[in-house]
Amino acid sequence: MVKKIEHIGIAVKNLKQANEVYEKLLGGPPYKIESVESEGVNTSFFQTGESKIELLEASHPNSAIAKFIEKKGEGIHHIAFAVEDIKAEMERLKKEGFKIINEHPIKGADNQWVCFVHPKDTKGVLIELCQKIT
Ligand code: ZN
Repeated sequence: MVKKIEHIGIAVKNLKQANEVYEKLLGGPPYKIESVESEGVNTSFFQTGESKIELLEASHPNSAIAKFIEKKGEGIHHIAFAVEDIKAEMERLKKEGFKIINEHPIKGADNQWVCFVHPKDTKGVLIELCQKIT
């Protein structure tokens, strides 16, 4: 069961510059800046009430974020839903006919197990499921 929108991911060309913009916009600095080597991204997180904003910058030219920006420019990259049990939720969605991009949950940014649902099955929006690593 989905608990809430955990965060919205925004693809940016330059994380440092984007952090300055979002710090002004949200009235405070990111609470975390983290690189996720396996995903080829540098990220920062801003708390916005119960949810968060994640800024994502490509850390190498083959990163999915680099390809996204090449095609679509900067902007909303994914919506992440917090779930209780990511494996159960992946099974449920597979049965419903959704294409899950990862076979198993992967370790994402900000201490979460994550997986992605293909945007072709979700009206063009990349969906991330995440479960807090406890
Ligand atoms: Zn995310």
